Amino acid sequence: MADDLTKLPGVGQSIAEKLIEAGYIDYMKIATATIGELSEIDGISEKAAAKIIAAAREYCNIGFKSGADLLNQRKTVWKLSTGSKELDNILDGGLESQSVTEFAGMFGSGKTQIMHQACVNLQCEDRIIADDSIKDEILEKPLKAVYIDTEGTFRPERIMQMAEALGIDGKDVLDNTFVARAYNSDMQMLFAEKIEDLIKEGHNIKLVVVDSLTSTFRNEYTGRGKLAERQQKLGRHMATLNKLADLYNCVVIVTNQVAARPDAFFGSSEQAIGGHIVGHAATFRIFLRKAKGDKRVAKLYDSPHLPDAEAMFRITEKGIHD
Ligand code: ADP
Ligand code: MG
Repeated sequence: MADDLTKLPGVGQSIAEKLIEAGYIDYMKIATATIGELSEIDGISEKAAAKIIAAAREYCNIGFKSGADLLNQRKTVWKLSTGSKELDNILDGGLESQSVTEFAGMFGSGKTQIMHQACVNLQCEDRIIADDSIKDEILEKPLKAVYIDTEGTFRPERIMQMAEALGIDGKDVLDNTFVARAYNSDMQMLFAEKIEDLIKEGHNIKLVVVDSLTSTFRNEYTGRGKLAERQQKLGRHMATLNKLADLYNCVVIVTNQVAARPDAFFGSSEQAIGGHIVGHAATFRIFLRKAKGDKRVAKLYDSPHLPDAEAMFRITEKGIHD
């Protein structure tokens, strides 16, 4: 259900419609907008924008939480195995719920394979690491995944193959995975926003995949002149994903391409695209690169509480493993 925007100060029916048209469909969207963004809408002054944002933040309960509250929330964090023990280890157990984890790397580095494997692992009891106290309630079965596919690379056959290797029924995995093919960034953003509706309809969505996060934006917003708009939309999309992770205790994983860094004299000459917006919005950032044969190297390079580290894993017909 959409929030009633006319409850916000100074927002009548016509302003509410303009807000919705501009993509500010709920309180959270508005709460995470800037005054500059909102005042671009016809009929909203900067002063009015500030008031609207403040009220939306109030409705969303954005504000101070005590450290003890946060510790309690952290206790409900659970982890999903990647399939590789080494990779799980550098992530302190696996892909973490209540966070967004980004996998960046060149073509063929294994990003899409990791996304597929996560959908399979979600249906595999011993690949979910969680405290017993939350198993019944939060991880009530069937657990479901949403896969937003922007590149047309989701393959049910590959899911079947990976499931078979684990001795689970691939059909179960497919039944519990909603796949949405997004042909452009607007569709991609809309699908992400619709996930909340699925949850409210009673689907226990615990995994959200966006493969790839940035390709539609990169294709549609080319050139310097479009950069600000692109970053603004991407920022809004990331806010949607972070909210899902946080509010519904989901694991959110996204893929990202890399671009050459012309200014790099030494060290890494490649960089995940999306700039600071993606950098700040993703909690864990992992770089993938090809090694010999079916081997791949994953490098964790940005995490709030884990050291930078590397892990080696393999991609074979069985999927992702050590
Ligand atoms: P990207 O990072 O571009 O998303 P992918 O995750 O699609 O890359 O990885 C593609 C690679 O995964 C292939 O080059 C191949 O090495 C490996 N791979 C994909 N499917 C299989 C399979 N069924 N059996 C073995 N290896 C596979
Ligand atoms: Mg891919």
